[in-house]
Amino acid sequence: MPITDAEKLKQWFLNEKRDFPWRKDTSPYRVWISEIMLQQTRASVVIGYFERWMKQFPSIQELSNASEETVIKSWEGLGYYNRARNILKAAHYFQSACGGIIPPDKQALMLVPGLGPYTVGAILSFAFKQKQAAVDANVARVMSRYHAYDKEITTSKGQKWLEEVTQQFLPDIDPHLVMEGLIELGAKICGKTPQCLMCPLDRGCKALLHSKVDFLPIKKKPKETVYLYKDVIVLKCDKYFLVHMKEKGKVLGGLYEFISLEREETRDIQGYLKEKFGLDAHKIEQLGTENQGYTHHAVELFPSIWETSCSQLIPGCEWRTWQELLSLPFTSGHRRILAGIAKEKYEYPTY
Ligand code: SF4
Repeated sequence: MPITDAEKLKQWFLNEKRDFPWRKDTSPYRVWISEIMLQQTRASVVIGYFERWMKQFPSIQELSNASEETVIKSWEGLGYYNRARNILKAAHYFQSACGGIIPPDKQALMLVPGLGPYTVGAILSFAFKQKQAAVDANVARVMSRYHAYDKEITTSKGQKWLEEVTQQFLPDIDPHLVMEGLIELGAKICGKTPQCLMCPLDRGCKALLHSKVDFLPIKKKPKETVYLYKDVIVLKCDKYFLVHMKEKGKVLGGLYEFISLEREETRDIQGYLKEKFGLDAHKIEQLGTENQGYTHHAVELFPSIWETSCSQLIPGCEWRTWQELLSLPFTSGHRRILAGIAKEKYEYPTY
């Protein structure tokens, strides 16, 4: 009997798969956390976060006892912080509605906060070894090329088609290995510049056969990047620094930042601090620029350190000690500013 493409892919995966900590022990909890972390983040970056997370929150129960601030702090740097908030909500849900376990059932999992079709499919496939499609961007790329699908894959019709063809591709025996193999193939071989000569599916791939590889998959154009420029004011008063928490429910909500404002070359920051907060302040130092990216925004930050002698209460802001700043969850750009100050400029560790 000729060997199927699914079998070829399984053999390739067993020989070539990368060695990740979440592949050593595929408990439902570990699969769930790793899959959420891997969304929008490279696997090499996730490894450290995943290992630290598993030490800090080794079980659903321990996670559900943690505060949101602690969870966000552990997530700091991974971006897309709603993922962390949803993980905490889901942990509470598993504790209260599922007896503290992750159920091996599609309908039940689709009710859990923050779990979409991909993550549900991944948990059922990798943790419970079910014959279950889990279509991420890698699988979408492989399947649309393998079948030479020449319609948009981002529409609901395209997504439904992807679910169906992926499900049909999975064999009855070891479906989870073929499922993970599709993801691995998309990550390692069938990427933006596919290496078809090394691909175990080359004989069956219709895009390769019909010379359509470079034109597939067909996707909607992404939103254009918005470029922003901001002055960041690191304002200190004796041992306190002025920060504010971004509004919860909005982009980057729940994370801390220093005061910032749209950059204008001619802006009088001293005048701004006086007018806006009634503070007399003087500039200590201009710091190097930092970059920050979120959703489709690219922000260039121009930080400077300022000093005032008046630590009056300012609505929406908080005066925090240096030690407290180090334990607060910051947005990525402002965290780098904080790290830069800590490393090179000043020593405030005794505060
Ligand atoms: S043959 Fe090329 S295009 Fe087709 S699945 Fe393999 S790597 Fe992708």
